[in-house]
Amino acid sequence: MDTSELHNVPRNTGWIEVVCGCMFSGKTEELIRRARRAEIAKQRVAIFKPRIDNRYSAQHIVSHSEQSLTSTVVDDASEILLLCKDAQVVGVDEGQFFKANLVEVCEKLANDGKRVIVAGLDQDYRGKPFEPMPQLLAVAEYITKTLAICVVCGNPADRTQRKTLNADRVLVGAKDIYEARCRHCFEPPSE
Ligand code: ZN
Repeated sequence: MDTSELHNVPRNTGWIEVVCGCMFSGKTEELIRRARRAEIAKQRVAIFKPRIDNRYSAQHIVSHSEQSLTSTVVDDASEILLLCKDAQVVGVDEGQFFKANLVEVCEKLANDGKRVIVAGLDQDYRGKPFEPMPQLLAVAEYITKTLAICVVCGNPADRTQRKTLNADRVLVGAKDIYEARCRHCFEPPSE
């Protein structure tokens, strides 16, 4: 739920929204949709993403369906505090690629009265919680879990199946390396 669609939007305070799910579930589309609606409402919006993600475009966040939005690349979440002073709405994509301090940064922004929207993977390729997203979910006011479609059976899918044997937690890629699967069809890698 986009908070702008709520009957009871928070007043005189900021808050944190998390949009999480597996790959191909539409997290970034949802972040872009919320940011665009805030811009239409004449709010000042700033979008950030971690440097690790070199897919498609350095200065834009781009969803797998190729919607895009201008964004600022940062090496560490602490840079966001310095770069978004004028923003009323702060968006963060690929939250799982930030360090643990993303949580305190988002808390500070929300405590300063900003609406903070973070999109990210809630599980890694093993199906394990992907820090710092679990910690962020715990302190967020609004949580949206986006589901993809299992490519094997067509069920709603919440897992990201890696199609290679690479065991690095971060392996950037898209449909060549990953696919969405449901709980039943997901095959966790052997430890
Ligand atoms: Zn399935």
